[in-house]
Amino acid sequence: MKAVASEPALARALHRSYILRVSSDTDSFEFQVSEHLRLSGVYWGACALHLLGELQSLDAAQVVSFVRSCQRGCGGFGGNLGHDAHMLYTLSAVQVLALFGALHTVDAGRVMRYVASLQRPDGSFAGDEWGEVDTRFSYCALCCASLLGKLGDIDVAAAVRYVRACENFDGGYGCEPGGESHAGQVFTCVGALAIGGELGSVRSEELAWWLCERQTPGGGLNGRPQKARPDADVCYSWWVLSAMCLLRRDGWIDGEALRRFILSCQDEEEGGIADKPGDLPDVFHTFFGERGESIHGTDGVPPIDAAHAMPASVMEQLRAEQALEPSRTLRGASPPRPRRGRPSSVPHRRLQRARAAPRRRQSS
Ligand SMILES: [Zn+2]
Repeated sequence: MKAVASEPALARALHRSYILRVSSDTDSFEFQVSEHLRLSGVYWGACALHLLGELQSLDAAQVVSFVRSCQRGCGGFGGNLGHDAHMLYTLSAVQVLALFGALHTVDAGRVMRYVASLQRPDGSFAGDEWGEVDTRFSYCALCCASLLGKLGDIDVAAAVRYVRACENFDGGYGCEPGGESHAGQVFTCVGALAIGGELGSVRSEELAWWLCERQTPGGGLNGRPQKARPDADVCYSWWVLSAMCLLRRDGWIDGEALRRFILSCQDEEEGGIADKPGDLPDVFHTFFGERGESIHGTDGVPPIDAAHAMPASVMEQLRAEQALEPSRTLRGASPPRPRRGRPSSVPHRRLQRARAAPRRRQSS
């Protein structure tokens, strides 16, 4: 009798062990090189465990205490003990506290005074006191404010105006006005607009085409056109899919092909997910791989809130407590991608000119 090859599946138990192992092995290379972004690492690891239904494997009191000890006098959080405050780590801190139901342990007003202090007159946000401006920081500010139920503490209208000014002819977004479209930046901008209540301003059809063209023949997704091959990377599963989900176009991606790509990046002996097949796994890509899986609800990964990058169940709890507006999760009913051509309702002259040269599009 012929042996039937087993279907690939998410190695849940191995990934749990992997995350716990790299979180506790303080002598490991991974632990040493991630020292400056420890707080973000805690968010990736804790959220990945939450999606595996294993958050209780972490010592909640210890994690919450560590997060709180990273708060600086200005109200913002550094990436590790004694590090300067930064918008990126402030969001990670708020996300971790929300995961553990511990937002009440910090003074939300104090955190928001730090966040608001980084907003500039044009609506943009700096990452820290040194003034680098990037739409990533706009997203961090809006997400932080939303999770804390304090959107009124920042100028949301100005923040949204700035993000809209970063939209490009192809429907994508850059890190600043005129900056190149990139899938990571698209997520931060679409997420920021979703939280700011301005999702309707996105040119959804153009952007959804640009996003679905990120899928490569191997099923994985890349971050932008014209990147050298092999270019698919597991983390783009999240950047692209979350934006597609918010635009209600996630069905335009071949989900089964993407799932197989993500599963091919698993370390099936030691656990963890890498950026590409054959590479060494890390916590960041393990988390992003799981989030990519979340879209179909396959492999038992529960839905995630696409705008806040948090488990939907955590957001439901927060909404109940803070009367937050509902936002879209990564398990919606989106129509399938049209089989060929662009819908006739979307003739966009500049876009058509830009695409006059023949380009490959993967058939669905
Ligand atoms: Zn990556």
